[in-house]
Amino acid sequence: MAEKITLGAGGALNVPDEPVIPFVRGDGTGIDIWPASQIVFDAAAAKYGKKIEWKEVLAGETAFNQTGNWLPDETIDAFRDHLIGIKGPLTTPVGGGIRSLNVAIRQILDLYVCLRPVRYFPGVPSPVKNPEKVDMVIFRENTEDIYAGLEVQEGTPEAERLIKILKEEFGWDIRADSGIGIKPISITGSKRLIRAAIQYAIDHGRKSVTLVHKGNIQKFTEGAFREWGYDLVKEEFADVAVGWDDCGGKPGDKILVKDNIADITLQQVLTRPEDFDVIATTNLNGDYLSDALAAQVGGIGIAPGGNINYVTGHGVFEATHGTAPKYAGQDKVNPSSVILSGVMMFDHLGWHEAARDIERAIEACIADRVVTYDFARLMEKATEVKCSEFGQAIVDRL
Ligand code: NAP
Repeated sequence: MAEKITLGAGGALNVPDEPVIPFVRGDGTGIDIWPASQIVFDAAAAKYGKKIEWKEVLAGETAFNQTGNWLPDETIDAFRDHLIGIKGPLTTPVGGGIRSLNVAIRQILDLYVCLRPVRYFPGVPSPVKNPEKVDMVIFRENTEDIYAGLEVQEGTPEAERLIKILKEEFGWDIRADSGIGIKPISITGSKRLIRAAIQYAIDHGRKSVTLVHKGNIQKFTEGAFREWGYDLVKEEFADVAVGWDDCGGKPGDKILVKDNIADITLQQVLTRPEDFDVIATTNLNGDYLSDALAAQVGGIGIAPGGNINYVTGHGVFEATHGTAPKYAGQDKVNPSSVILSGVMMFDHLGWHEAARDIERAIEACIADRVVTYDFARLMEKATEVKCSEFGQAIVDRL
């Protein structure tokens, strides 16, 4: 009988063999991608005697058309109540109160880690010479930075007032015709993110954690993120990890915690990707970095993501691409981003064998050159298949 996933003692999930998992099909190409993904999840789970009871919930344009609400309370309640969920891409409403539905879901459920593993599947077309060297896991802070910031528009009374306060109380001369943005970065937000990254490195036998920041320019937000990270290593992980300055870059058998400025990082992930393992970074840096890295290993059609709160047990796994409206309903696009987000979800549930099976089956499809349009246009002698056919091809190779 289907049951809910619950949070056990010590923060571990209790996962029944027949869990109820809420899902959002997604707007645009979600209509094509979801069914192709679900058959893969169901077949992989069934191999190990598991069965997911999928509970459909609404968000995005589909929700708006049916309920008049872009993000109905029932959807948030379902994710909150069932702990784990998965979603396809959502249309971001233009205008109106919600900046982005994805950001709203992350903030309401306090999903403070955006987890983006970036690895190469042999045979995937790539613009770089050695994509196989890319094997990184990005921990992007998900609740702060400019995404939780305040912006005031140029020429408004709010901007005028803020400029006046900043002049009178902080001695800060700002051009009168400026818009202004303010971003918060806290000890709480930074340490819980970096804690999760170091714990991941411990649990997965990773060698290093790089703190990526722009602290040379923004000392009290980005620079402080770096400092708080090194403090945390000493406070909580001294037996298993060591900061660069405390070991001269020679960590012995401990995990090396180092830091890198964001701009040079975007260069070095291209020129020497082998130097990067787990990356912990602030929200905006993480946004740039995860898309830049995804490009090296096959683009956003194949890049998965998860939004997680390791304390409450909540996790929402999601496609990292958008709704690609021009392809919606054509049964054309690559469903791998949602499928690999499901792989992350399976790993999170402790269903590791089923997760590895799906990865191997995707690798086998690519080795057989059975791929969707996005890869087919870059591969020689490829057999281009539809979105649904690609899902079935994975099932056939499980
Ligand atoms: P997009 O939907 O990500 O599409 C941009 C391009 O990426 C597509 O034209 C296509 O490239 C490629 N692409 C996207 N999905 C793919 C897939 N499954 N397989 C293969 N290729 C894929 O970005 P957008 O057109 O800028 O945004 C459209 C809507 O999505 C907007 O409403 C936006 O706000 C929203 N959005 C949602 C999310 C989310 O829910 N996570 C994220 C980003 C954007 P080619 O044209 O080269 O084939």
